[in-house]
Amino acid sequence: MCGIVAYIGSKVARPILLEGLKRLEYRGYDSAGIAIIQNGHLSVQKKIGRVANLEAAIEGKPGFDGSLGLCHTRWATHGGVTDFNAHPHTDDRHGIALVHNGIIENYSALKTYLQERGHTFNSQTDTEVLAMLIGELYEGDLEKAVQGALREVTGAYAIAVICEKEPDVLVCARKGSPLLVGIGSENEYVVASDGAAIIAHTARAIHLDDYNVVKITREGFRTTDIHNTALSPKVQQLELELEQIELGGFQHFMLKEIFEQPKSVRACLGGRMDMREGRVVLGGLAAFAKDLTKAKRVILTAQGTALHAAMIGRYMLEDLAKITCTTEYASEFRYRNPVIEENTIVVAVSQSGETADTLAALHEAKERGALALGVVNVVGSSIARETDAGVYLRVGPEIGVASTKAFIGQVTVLSLISMHIARKRFMSADQCLDMMREMEAIPAKIERILEQSQRIKRITEKYVERENWLFLGRGYNYPTALEGALKLKEISYIHAEGMPAAEMKHGPIALINEGLPAVFIANKGRQYEKVMSNIQEVRSRGGHVIAVATEGDTEINKHAQDVMYIPEVCEPLSPMLAVVPLQLMAYYAAVARGHDVDKPRNLAKSVTVE
Ligand code: GLU
Repeated sequence: MCGIVAYIGSKVARPILLEGLKRLEYRGYDSAGIAIIQNGHLSVQKKIGRVANLEAAIEGKPGFDGSLGLCHTRWATHGGVTDFNAHPHTDDRHGIALVHNGIIENYSALKTYLQERGHTFNSQTDTEVLAMLIGELYEGDLEKAVQGALREVTGAYAIAVICEKEPDVLVCARKGSPLLVGIGSENEYVVASDGAAIIAHTARAIHLDDYNVVKITREGFRTTDIHNTALSPKVQQLELELEQIELGGFQHFMLKEIFEQPKSVRACLGGRMDMREGRVVLGGLAAFAKDLTKAKRVILTAQGTALHAAMIGRYMLEDLAKITCTTEYASEFRYRNPVIEENTIVVAVSQSGETADTLAALHEAKERGALALGVVNVVGSSIARETDAGVYLRVGPEIGVASTKAFIGQVTVLSLISMHIARKRFMSADQCLDMMREMEAIPAKIERILEQSQRIKRITEKYVERENWLFLGRGYNYPTALEGALKLKEISYIHAEGMPAAEMKHGPIALINEGLPAVFIANKGRQYEKVMSNIQEVRSRGGHVIAVATEGDTEINKHAQDVMYIPEVCEPLSPMLAVVPLQLMAYYAAVARGHDVDKPRNLAKSVTVE
């Protein structure tokens, strides 16, 4: 979580820092802060709330017009949301200021040590301990002090550090949390947690690796590890365009991203389906064709929305490729001593590619000998770099905290992987062709659903006062029900539970009272009749049924109070359509309740702490 931006160059740093920070606000937004060195003097300002509050606080204030500085938008882990706990944190001796993304796990022992050496602390954060430790070790060389301090800490960090005594030096480092160094053309550098804060200035950047420390001056930079061994990192081109990270006329990024989904699926499929040969082409997996053919077991691991996509992937891998498959919360997989047999593939699914839990699970799986594959959106992210191979989503940057187009992209990629493996095993070229034609038709079908958005809005507004909702589905659409409930919870703060429709009668049916909204995914498929029975069970107890049904199904109107239609589609791909009305419902519910859709309370976009 959290966003870091730092600048060194010849321009006034403040507008570049604040503009970058606003672009990273989706990563954390409980408080923000900035530190600038101007004429050899350090000025710091911190404020709870949004970046706009911080901007107002330094407007016209002297000391903030230098050309070296750093800033931070926080998602608190240690210490409450207060001005004191906001970053940057400073040391108490040398005018050192530091911003940090991550967690210093041994902060408590270090704090005791530093207190014994006479340091006094102003915050409850783990981060301040690192700032003090750098100060404690400082002997006139900031780079050396940072390297020394990082040798003492455990945990995760991306940091940027400046010091009043070295007004031309910026030192940054990373372990576990992402950090990029953007290299501008006029001896200027913009360092940030993600490319969105850099792209307006330059497309050339270095992705720092774990334990990299970079010392930047206006004349150039040098990269080392924490033991001061020199390194030569690769300069890469950021694949990002400014318009992708702007609202483009939409009121919220989430709505923009929901409406982008047809385009996302097209981009994701582009060049990956060979219609002549009836096979899926995934360049990223080409070198591992043998491993895919002889795989005995696939474990899909993820968190949140990505886990729901993974669950759909599991159904497909079993259904189409006939391969044993399980899904698992990455956070649980990592700590439960999992048994990894020979010929096991572990697939890490994550939009950002930085999800700390998923990354940790990936390390565990690799250590135990699994082939590690990644399904991620952000090119060059940690998971993308640390897996043996993978497939990118190609859906473009996702800014809305509630994931939508990345979910569609994840399901698309997992379908492609399933078909790819299936073709190596049991699937004929004709079967594969049929499925690929269905895939090709998905974007236009999503467009048809989006045309009904105003109708979905009206339906949602009827129920928006209700505090408890159920989302029910079976088979492929059980994960869709989980995703519908998660979306509603995340942004409208309505309590919602998703579950297999058949599970309801084993307990949750007790929740049903007069008017409780129960959203059923009741599209035509193998379990349609069963779902109809579950609908009756809810109706007879006073619940209100909102159904997602297949176009042309008029029967459903007799059973559901409200119906949202999706076009006909083969069962494995039905979640890609069924989820769209649920995303729109969550969006309209949050707007009707007056919430900030793109910045839901307590949440942040990429969860880079465990
Ligand atoms: N652990 C630090 C804090 O709570 C940094 C959290 C973050 O990454 O925003 O202040």
